[in-house]
Amino acid sequence: MTTELTEARKLDGKVVAEAIRASLVPRIERFLSSVGRPPGLGIVLAGDDGGSEIYVRNKVQSCEALGVFAELKRVGKESSVDEVLALVEDFNRDDAIDGVLVQSPLPVGMGQGAEQRVFDAIDPKKDVDGFHPVNAGRLAQKRSGMAPGTPSGVIELLDRSGIAIEGRRAVVIGRSDIVGKPMAMLLLHRNATVTICHSRTTDLAAVASEADIVIAAIGRPGFVTRDFVKPGATVIDVGTTRMTNRAEVASLFGQDSPRLEVIERRGATTVGDVHPDVAQVAGALTPVPGGVGPLTIVMLLSNTVHAAERRRDP
Ligand code: NAP
Repeated sequence: MTTELTEARKLDGKVVAEAIRASLVPRIERFLSSVGRPPGLGIVLAGDDGGSEIYVRNKVQSCEALGVFAELKRVGKESSVDEVLALVEDFNRDDAIDGVLVQSPLPVGMGQGAEQRVFDAIDPKKDVDGFHPVNAGRLAQKRSGMAPGTPSGVIELLDRSGIAIEGRRAVVIGRSDIVGKPMAMLLLHRNATVTICHSRTTDLAAVASEADIVIAAIGRPGFVTRDFVKPGATVIDVGTTRMTNRAEVASLFGQDSPRLEVIERRGATTVGDVHPDVAQVAGALTPVPGGVGPLTIVMLLSNTVHAAERRRDP
């Protein structure tokens, strides 16, 4: 068999995120002029996790750049779940706040089940991450509500890149409540034929290679190799893993990879679940970074604007 060496089309998340951001501007202006304040997002950050600090900073900056009010409330790593719950309650009651999110993960000291307790406490109308069981249920029933940002962003990316969903076979690898399951629901509601795979799936590569659209949401660098992918299929790489080991990165991307220089400069490179060789088989592929990541943030902003409009005009 000869190998087709044409590179997959790159699906640029930054360009699509920018288009969505631009579409939010007039809605924010309309809201501001009719209500007299901008849409507001309340963020709770517990502990001092380095990754969470960066995510939260990005969220606050993205809000401010767009004219959405962002308020950050913090508690230390030794705090109790009750302190986090109290901050959530404050935001729930605050009329200037339309969306509430609690940055995950919570400090381990808060114990198992803390995250679910906190997500359950957010007013479903303000639940811009879409993790509350009411919103998960509404999504399953295809009723209006708040869908999580990452899978919603993937649908936007497919739509705005002209990739058909209806009638196509989609395989979602990963079954988490925040990515895999809602991703499968959204694809199902768009009339794809959906298979959800996970760590106990037998013969995963064979199952995935039946798909027209493969969504990888696992968190294992380079796990999805070319034998997982039907020639011409669309591959969406949701995975993000920070890799710091030069030798491991070189074995995945090659000794000449610009990522090695990124490690020198920044100490780490963010790597997806999809092996670089998949670019030679797939028809279209999202890069990491610069694929799904930018969409996750812009969909959070979109959910915040949506929540503000709905609270104003139910
Ligand atoms: P998660 O809760 O850890 O779930 C991972 C899923 O992958 C689980 O369902 C697990 O299966 C499955 N899995 C693990 N190893 C597997 C294997 N060897 N074969 C098949 N399936 C396997 O992670 P998550 O929160 O869904 O996130 C997934 C990835 O997406 C992570 O890398 C995360 O950082 C990234 N992410 C990125 C963004 C973004 O904006 N780009 C947003 C959210 C998440 P089991 O259920 O059987 O254990």
